[in-house]
Amino acid sequence: MKKSYLSETVQSIQPSGIRKFFDLAATMEGVISLGVGEPDFVTAWNVREASIMSLEQGLTSYTANAGLISLRKELSHYLYKRFHIDYSPEEELIITVGGSQALDLAFRAILNSGDEVIIPEPCFVAYGALTTLAGGVPVYLSTTAEKDFKADSADLRTKLTPKTKAILLCSPSNPTGSVYSKEEFEDIAQFAKEHDLLIITDEIYAELTYDEAFTSVAAIQDMKERTILISGFSKGFAMTGWRLGYVAAPPVLRDAMLKIHQYSMMCAPAMAQYAAEEALKNGLEDVEKMKKSYRRRRNLFVGSLNELGLTCHQPNGAFYAFPSIKSTGMTSEQFAEELLLSEKVAVVPGNVFGPSGEGHIRCSYASSLDHLQESLSRIQRFLQARQVKEEASAILK
Ligand code: PLP
Repeated sequence: MKKSYLSETVQSIQPSGIRKFFDLAATMEGVISLGVGEPDFVTAWNVREASIMSLEQGLTSYTANAGLISLRKELSHYLYKRFHIDYSPEEELIITVGGSQALDLAFRAILNSGDEVIIPEPCFVAYGALTTLAGGVPVYLSTTAEKDFKADSADLRTKLTPKTKAILLCSPSNPTGSVYSKEEFEDIAQFAKEHDLLIITDEIYAELTYDEAFTSVAAIQDMKERTILISGFSKGFAMTGWRLGYVAAPPVLRDAMLKIHQYSMMCAPAMAQYAAEEALKNGLEDVEKMKKSYRRRRNLFVGSLNELGLTCHQPNGAFYAFPSIKSTGMTSEQFAEELLLSEKVAVVPGNVFGPSGEGHIRCSYASSLDHLQESLSRIQRFLQARQVKEEASAILK
């Protein structure tokens, strides 16, 4: 088949670098994977049961394009209660197929050909590709471990051009676990207002912050009108396979996204929407329990990485540690590949999340304590073996 059949835009984007390692890991036995970005919990029983009930009742038809109004009302209530943001269920919310589709809608609704989106990196792998697919140009902004992998208005200013349309923010962040404070968001908000920019804020890990309360960009004064809020049920509610997310935005933006959603998706799966409604009504205690468990694991895992000499800033949210492996002298890819081949621990090389991720690896600590302990022992053995090898070759030189 000729490549020329394919759209040039599709040819210009790369498949996600995360998959490569998992395809390799899948061929090996006894691998502990710290690679996957999903909770290790099964969706709560009452949530599963609500979905089963909907099927038993024969609720199997299309829902409204924007999603069940009962779910949107529940969601509006939840967003207000949890994050102090006030969205109209009728006019400002769309239930989507995961946060992934919500992101796609946001880019496609606002970008003209050549419009630029500033994206602080290292970042979730989909942002750049989705920007390109929507005809826009991703403009990556490097961040550093010293600044907790966060951008401020001075950093953003360095990437500002007449073509800049929007800034993409992700807090808590995949892959770094960093969380922006209210003050940090206020600084960026001021910049966005000054230059009349939109903010696309990916808040899919909003339920999972450990040291400070979460602030939504949309809750900052005067920001709701220029913010597209992306979120969903995958992470906080342990519902990745249900494929359910949402987007919240002022009516003009929301209506534009709804047009795309209407033609490309029709609506999100009905049985998943019934489940999500139950999750919002009666699932927050379970979210709290999962969060406590992640916090315990974070403390153990991040503390141990630092003890092993893999310097790791304290991730305040999500369930990822993003330690530096620079002390080993290896590249991220080398480290991940050798660790997998010699000790059967799968991690994600940091460079797949952008050039500033080089010298780091992403480890998900949404894994059992036993697995985390075992993976730490294996990493320790790996580092010791490497050191012995280096010392031996230094003597032989
Ligand atoms: N945003 C971020 C930062 C993510 O890490 C992910 C998934 O890994 C998503 C969005 C997409 O989530 P989903 O489509 O499962 O809702």
